[in-house]
Amino acid sequence: MAKQRILELPVWEAADKIRGQEITSEEYVAATLKRIREVEPDVHAYITLIEEPALTQAQAIDKKIRRGGDLGRLAGLPVAIKDNICVRGFTTTCASKMLENFVTPYDATVVERILGEDGVIIGKTNLDEFAMGTSTEYSYFGPTKNPWDTSKVPGGSSGGSAAAVSALEAAFALGSDTGGSVRSPASFCCIVGLKPTYGAVSRYGLVSYANSLEQIGPFARDVRSCALLTSVIAGYDARDSTSSDKFPADLVLKRSLPKLTIGVPREFFEEGVQEGVSKTVRDAISRLEKAGVKLSFEEISLPMLKYALPAYYIIAMSEASSNLARYDGIRYGYRVPDRTLDWGTVFSKDRGVGFGAEVRRRIMLGTYALSAGYFDQYYLKAQKIRTLLRREFDGAFKRFDLLLAPSMPILPFGLGEKMEDPLQLYMCDIETVPANLTGIPSLSVPCGVSEGLPVGMQLMAPPFREDLLFQAGRLVEDLLPVDRSAGEFTHA
Ligand code: GLN
Repeated sequence: MAKQRILELPVWEAADKIRGQEITSEEYVAATLKRIREVEPDVHAYITLIEEPALTQAQAIDKKIRRGGDLGRLAGLPVAIKDNICVRGFTTTCASKMLENFVTPYDATVVERILGEDGVIIGKTNLDEFAMGTSTEYSYFGPTKNPWDTSKVPGGSSGGSAAAVSALEAAFALGSDTGGSVRSPASFCCIVGLKPTYGAVSRYGLVSYANSLEQIGPFARDVRSCALLTSVIAGYDARDSTSSDKFPADLVLKRSLPKLTIGVPREFFEEGVQEGVSKTVRDAISRLEKAGVKLSFEEISLPMLKYALPAYYIIAMSEASSNLARYDGIRYGYRVPDRTLDWGTVFSKDRGVGFGAEVRRRIMLGTYALSAGYFDQYYLKAQKIRTLLRREFDGAFKRFDLLLAPSMPILPFGLGEKMEDPLQLYMCDIETVPANLTGIPSLSVPCGVSEGLPVGMQLMAPPFREDLLFQAGRLVEDLLPVDRSAGEFTHA
């Protein structure tokens, strides 16, 4: 099989072919590395490449297959890891000057599990500094470009992971989603991405941004492969005190699907949502309705949604200000070379130079929201909104199996277009933050194209019902196939 072509196989099929010894893991990994060399100058998905160790691991896996040994579920396929997740022996930079030289002494639980299932770690991907952003432009190492159209941003903050999968520079990838950082780039790069239920995937080894909101989540080019990686990384871990044992051990995707009722909250289609996006998602809904008997839709209203974005930013920034306190150049992080300065000056200089402007802004705003006199007015109020929102979602899930929204309110926008105005970037998160505030799982699946750019559909389910998301996601994928080869670097 021609080297590049094997990268275009559905990933679960490539796994079967490796298992059946039709192709080898080494061939797949070598083809991926070749692809990376060709497209990285234009895409810039990676911060660190892990070439030799990946090839060595692939060879060992092939040897095991030839000897008839048990092959793990990831079958020697390459996985890219967002650079805020720890891989032992390599840097975890969080795309920050602060951690530019931080070599990680241990593996995150998700990385251990991937290696345990014969996934090959191929590199660490670019992100907005400390995962704070929606476009992957706030990286100390420079922006990633959208492989569908390189004049556009890939979404963010896990833009490197999504771009790598989209441009065939990895079979799978991991990102983290605090307020949309998996679903946003999945949507912009025309691939599939999941924000799992809070507690479903261990956060051990993920550098915290806002720990009550975030989960590590998988990216793949199709729903079935995304489900495969989910089943590998999810499950209880004693090293994360918020980890749950409720995730079903056998995430099986049944062929025969019960009829699903889907609520469509109208607030997700209103203020701030581009015409082209809402039209594409609404068209997708009518086509699904016409095509089958399996899905029925009903428009509903969730009035608390309009408070979700401000509540999210207050909580996220408050948690960030506390989580990032450890980077002072003494315990962790960048240290200014001048050793003659007193402690207070060193501390503020380290942080002033080590962190970029957006991270500093969030630390300041978060500290303010938590300070005496303002705590009740901001942080506490945001937590109350969170409770009310959760109740509203609980109520909706008594009537509906799933809820539906666009993944992003706008189409992929031009590089540099929104850099100067942080509020405009924050507004891009209106569709995604409700799932983080309520802890529910949410999947983004491509559902159409507008003005030549991809549009994602977001499906949300009750806690630990990722199985419903994947089943509905597969229907969307089958009934509304989007031609990925239309993208600039999305085919070999
Ligand atoms: N864009 C959101 C933020 O900047 C979400 C980021 C994320 O999910 N990590 O906070």
